Amino acid sequence: MSLNIAQILHDDLITPMVRKTAYGLATTCILGAAVYAGYCVAAPEKHIIRQHRHPELNDQIEKVVDSLKITDDQLIHIMHILEEEMSAGLSPITHKQATVKMFPTYVRNIPNGTEVGQVLALDLGGTNFRVLLIDLRGNARVELTSKIFVIPQSIMIGDGRHLFCHLAECLYDFMLKENLLRTGICYPLGFTFSFPCRQEGLASARLTSWTKGFSCSGVVNEDVVKLLQEAINEKGINAKCVALVNDTVGTLMACAYKDPATAIGLILGTGTNACYIENLDKVGTWNSDYDEPKQVIINMEWGAFGDNGRLNLIRTKYDEEVDLSSINPGKQIFEKMISGMYMGEIVRLIILDLLQQELLFLGHRDTYGDYKTPLYNRGGFYTKFVSTVETDEGIKFSNTRRVLEDIGIHNPTYDDCAIVQHICRQVSKRAARLAGAGLAVLVNRIGKSDVTVGVDGSLYRYHPRFKRNMERCMETLVNKDVKFALETIPDASGIGAAVTAAAECRSGKGAAMVACVAGKPYLVNSIVSDEETADYEKINS
Ligand code: ADP
Ligand code: MG
Repeated sequence: MSLNIAQILHDDLITPMVRKTAYGLATTCILGAAVYAGYCVAAPEKHIIRQHRHPELNDQIEKVVDSLKITDDQLIHIMHILEEEMSAGLSPITHKQATVKMFPTYVRNIPNGTEVGQVLALDLGGTNFRVLLIDLRGNARVELTSKIFVIPQSIMIGDGRHLFCHLAECLYDFMLKENLLRTGICYPLGFTFSFPCRQEGLASARLTSWTKGFSCSGVVNEDVVKLLQEAINEKGINAKCVALVNDTVGTLMACAYKDPATAIGLILGTGTNACYIENLDKVGTWNSDYDEPKQVIINMEWGAFGDNGRLNLIRTKYDEEVDLSSINPGKQIFEKMISGMYMGEIVRLIILDLLQQELLFLGHRDTYGDYKTPLYNRGGFYTKFVSTVETDEGIKFSNTRRVLEDIGIHNPTYDDCAIVQHICRQVSKRAARLAGAGLAVLVNRIGKSDVTVGVDGSLYRYHPRFKRNMERCMETLVNKDVKFALETIPDASGIGAAVTAAAECRSGKGAAMVACVAGKPYLVNSIVSDEETADYEKINS
């Protein structure tokens, strides 16, 4: 259009003065048009797929993306179903066949920030094993020293006795360096053990099955606290395990130490799970005393929500595919729609589907026949890529281009990048809204005007908009008279185990080592930051 205007002006042979003004006007028009075009291109979601594409192609893409959308009404329906499943898990009559197990944890004393003293913690959750010395200084202040040890593959799949012996050796090594051995103090120890357990007491839990690449013999059905304590005693270490927690409980407890309004713990990492403080009279499966405090933390194991088909109304063909190709088909249905282990895979399957429908990477198809590229292979699109793609703002898509290059797509067009980002946004938004709806059930159930949720896990920490999307959806679903906050504190799962041990000691039920937490003099360590001590060390047993 601008060229035509210039041409017309030239042909008309008008005076230089008029011509100058007209050129000025034309330039303004051109600039205006360019700015508007730039705005359309950079504008949010609505304009993200350029209009010059065939509208039918965009409609077909939107149809795929629409299958991922869950309306507020659907979320409210899901919240009702979750409440029913929770009741089934809490009732002794239905517990056995319930999908959401609602395990009582025996953690009843919630920290109040006054706990003081030095407590040890062991955090075994994946490949790395962490030993921590946590110095609770009261007034919600915490200092910690920690060291990360690698668990060699041979130990992960070897004899269970070697595993616990190895854990005790790492503990010994750490305590030696920190001058904690032979101090005349028996240190209380909290154990964060993030594998499925049926808990029988605060310091007693039987492993129901190994996950995450562990398969040590002779441990399933055994009391893991007992196995750990035997190994600690064999080495003559002055520590006693007084509490075992999983990562959700650890996160709740660590957050509660700082913020007494904390009543819920949530994990959004490899998997997803939540726990919350429940009144004992609502826990039909409770088999211990009803003394004060008349509450207990319930480990929901909510990843299994939907295993009985009740979430089928919102599942897509991509969810079904992820499930069928997993090592546990039919299990952890809620988790498979939300957590880090599966999110990237859902995105990959959608991209592949659009590619096969000739809706994506148009004009480049002949170069994409290489089935060895990550795009064509299960797990080829990491969940961290979803975060990377969503970090891009505007029209350059430099991160998205890098990710596409990584999965074997060279020189993607602007449209390709915009569509891939659109998919990532919808998949992560759906996950955040589902997790948010689950949390809304708990926040409404707590029945307090102020509820804080302790949240941890790499998906939540590193995804650029997971938190925001969860909060937005919760604002709609949480009762209007309730104020909620999502909090994350560093090292929550390790600190949580220590705080649990200390809270137990404070309550006066923590067996013989009560005295060694509060009241007695203790060595104040030089506090070394976690980064400084987090050298990966291999200890061979
Ligand atoms: P775990 O759950 O084993 O304790 P994490 O909380 O660190 O460990 O979670 C690991 C999971 O988080 C992985 O499955 C991975 O997909 C996901 N993840 C790692 N980095 C990111 C990231 N930058 N953005 C989103 N998810 C991530
Ligand atoms: Mg973890």
